[in-house]
Amino acid sequence: MSSNGQASILIIYTGGTIGMIQNVDTGALESFNFDHLLKHVPELKSLNINIDAITFDPPIDSSDMEPELWSRIVTNIEENYERYDGFVILHGTDTMSFTASALSFMLEDLMKPVILTGSQLPIGALRTDGKENLITAIEIAAAKNSDGTPVVPEVCVFFHEKLMRGNRTTKINSESFGAFGSNNYPLLAMAGTDIQFYTRNIKKYVPGLKLKAHHEYNSNIIILSLFPGIQQEVIEKVLATKELKGVIFRTFGAGNAPQKKWLIEALSKATSEGKIIINITQCAGGSVHMERYETGLQLLEAGVISGKDSTVEAALTKLMYLLGKNLPVEEIRRRMSESIAGEITE
Ligand code: ASP
Repeated sequence: MSSNGQASILIIYTGGTIGMIQNVDTGALESFNFDHLLKHVPELKSLNINIDAITFDPPIDSSDMEPELWSRIVTNIEENYERYDGFVILHGTDTMSFTASALSFMLEDLMKPVILTGSQLPIGALRTDGKENLITAIEIAAAKNSDGTPVVPEVCVFFHEKLMRGNRTTKINSESFGAFGSNNYPLLAMAGTDIQFYTRNIKKYVPGLKLKAHHEYNSNIIILSLFPGIQQEVIEKVLATKELKGVIFRTFGAGNAPQKKWLIEALSKATSEGKIIINITQCAGGSVHMERYETGLQLLEAGVISGKDSTVEAALTKLMYLLGKNLPVEEIRRRMSESIAGEITE
C-alpha cells in the first residue's frame, strides 16, 4: 500500500505477444519494450492504483522460458514482497501454465496475489485482448476484502474473463481469446460487468505466514507419452538414460498402458533404480485411477506413482522442484501423490 492509501502493484514484464510489435521486413512478431505497451493502455492512469514495473531485458517469447528465469521471477517477488499488495506477471501464453505451476511451488506460503496474464493479439492491435486482460489482472491483484486482506492470495492465471488457479491451467487453444482451461478445478472468479469472486474455490488467507522462496530445481526429467505401436527399444533406451531422475508418463484414460511384458519390466527396472515415474492421463480432464483396470494395476506394481488429477505442467514443475531439494526418493514419491499447492484434488 502506498502512503496515499492506494494499492500498489508490481508488474513483471517477461515478454510474450502482449508486448510484441510486427517487424516491418519479415512480418513476424518481435518483443518490444514495456513503455510501448503502457502507451497503448492510457486507462491504467484512471485505475487509482500505484503501478511499478520490472522488465526482462530483453523481453522473451515464452518458448524461451527456462527454470532459471522462474527463479529470477521468484527473486523479483521475494525482494519486493513487503512493498506491494500484489504482482502481475505479463507472460507469453505458450508456456504460461508451466510458469504459473512452477511459481505455485517455488513461492511457498504465498499470501499475496500473483496473477499471470498475456494476450493472443499484441496490445497495439485493433482487436487486442491484451488491454482487458491487463487491466482486470491488475484489479484482481489489488482486490482486498473488507478486513484489508487480499481476496486472492495465490498464483493465478487471468485470461479472457476467467480467473483460474495457476497450477490447474493448460493452454487449450492457440487462436481463441479463451486460450486457457482449468478442467479439474473450478474457476476462482469471472470478470463480467463486475468481477465475481468464488471465495470457496480460493486459497484461504492465513495471517502471519511468511513467504518462503525456493530457487532450486532439477530438470533431468522427461515427458513420455504412450501411443499404440510404441517401440520397446526406444522406451528402454530413454528409461536407461543415466542422468534421468524422473518421468511424467502420459498414459491412456484412467492411467492405463499396454499389457506388454517388456514395458512393465523397463518401468520396474527404472523405479528400482530410484527413478520417479508419475502417471498422468493424456485426457484433458479427469484423474488417474490405476487400481481400476488390469492395465493400470500392473503399472502400480511396477512402482509407478499416480499423479491423480494434476496437469502435465503441474506434475512436471513439481517434480523439478522436489528433485531440486535432494529429498529422499520415498518422500518425493509420497509428495507427488498429494497436494502441496492445490494442484491435486484430495
Ligand atoms: N509465442 C508467444 C509467447 O508465448 C505467444 C503468446 O504470447 O501468446 O511468448
